[in-house]
Amino acid sequence: MQMINKTIVIVFTFILFGASMGFAQIGSDGNEILLQGGYVLSMDSEIGDLTSGDVLIRDGQIIEVGASIDAPQAQVIDATGMVIMPGFVETHWHMWESSLRGMANDAAEYFYYSEVLTPHYTPEDFHAAVRYAALDAINAGITTVHNWAGVQNDFENVQAEMQALVESGLRAKMGYLAIIEGEMTGGAELNRAIDWVNENGEQRLSLSLLLDGVQAVQMQTATELGRTLNLWPITDHSGGLGTPEVSGEEFIVTHGPGLTPEAIEIMVEKDIKVALSPLIDPMIGGGLPPVYELLAGGVPLENISFSVDVSAQTPVDPFASLRAMVNSARMQQVEANQAGITAGTLRIPAPGTEWLFSYRDALLTGTYGGANVLGLADQIGSLTPGKRADVIMVNMNMINMLPLTDVNIPMQLIQHGLPANVDTVIIEGKIRKLNGEIVGVDMQQVINEAAQSQTEIRNRADEVIDTGR
Ligand SMILES: [Zn+2]
Repeated sequence: MQMINKTIVIVFTFILFGASMGFAQIGSDGNEILLQGGYVLSMDSEIGDLTSGDVLIRDGQIIEVGASIDAPQAQVIDATGMVIMPGFVETHWHMWESSLRGMANDAAEYFYYSEVLTPHYTPEDFHAAVRYAALDAINAGITTVHNWAGVQNDFENVQAEMQALVESGLRAKMGYLAIIEGEMTGGAELNRAIDWVNENGEQRLSLSLLLDGVQAVQMQTATELGRTLNLWPITDHSGGLGTPEVSGEEFIVTHGPGLTPEAIEIMVEKDIKVALSPLIDPMIGGGLPPVYELLAGGVPLENISFSVDVSAQTPVDPFASLRAMVNSARMQQVEANQAGITAGTLRIPAPGTEWLFSYRDALLTGTYGGANVLGLADQIGSLTPGKRADVIMVNMNMINMLPLTDVNIPMQLIQHGLPANVDTVIIEGKIRKLNGEIVGVDMQQVINEAAQSQTEIRNRADEVIDTGR
């Protein structure tokens, strides 16, 4: 039975991966792309915003950002009515669960289904789910993800997820568990993953080390292992706050509604980063992302990021995530300082209230902040010449926006932006979305495979789960 399964897996894998080989030809590697005449939101403090500007890309790199660039050889993409900005960076996402969409109504159901269904995944299920999630990300303008993988009892599962990430065209961190079935990783399996990434990662994939399940007494050893292998991030879900003597700049606190002032003090002292889950935590009733508390407590803006967390439950939508962060920060700020609020059913803060977390701050956390949290700020996160070309164009000439440049552009993006406004996505200099359409991928097939995968997983788990809900 085992042998038959493996054979089927290999054949299936070959079909899937073979079919995607043409995808590698897409884009402009070795050529130039000129994004012309858009509102450039560089997120680079020296360049700032350009009301009308160009961005030149060559060999996967940002070459120039300026008011008017002459590049006669370049493929020109008209950016009239568009915002040109760095791609969004998310920092904590259990991507294998994306195909369980529609199943987990709250936290209890999420944990239940994770427990009973995950053991029934095959490598092709992991592949289908991660590929589905990855294309959802690209479609929404997210160019980098941190795949917080969680099931690595078989290298085939790990490989299937890594293969799906590379095929999709995303830049990604693949989280590798430091503890697998009670045993510390460190030997052959982890090195095998590193070798695979070096050989197949196309300079877009790298590994992080996940410490979930590591006992306090093993934290030092596990962290040193990650540091020796230059992995980044190295972290558990709590950012190592349980062992602050070990924790440091490679660690990420996830979620955050339960953070105490004392914990925030440790985060500041140790340069520990944050991956908020601004859509999941309110959805499960856990609380709002504590943006105001973090900033008021001294956590630097560039250490704060958003994460998708569980796309089976909430949408892959960087605009909605950042919107939730801005709105939460405002509520928390008003709550912390009651002065100036009108009485009655409508509570209105006093005119002239200065918001601690601005729209531009939110965009920074969604781009440069995410890059900094993942240890990639020297490569991505802003439109800075010399950085890798992860660039998106957002179409402001749609019914939910106005194509004006003398208005608050960050506010328009965050309060009004939708994934549907993402017109163009370029990752490592390759065009992955153009004119609002994903390039070179049969999206219907990706959707069908994810849906079929969910059905098959549920059928296999039939003895323990009521699939008739
Ligand atoms: Zn998580």
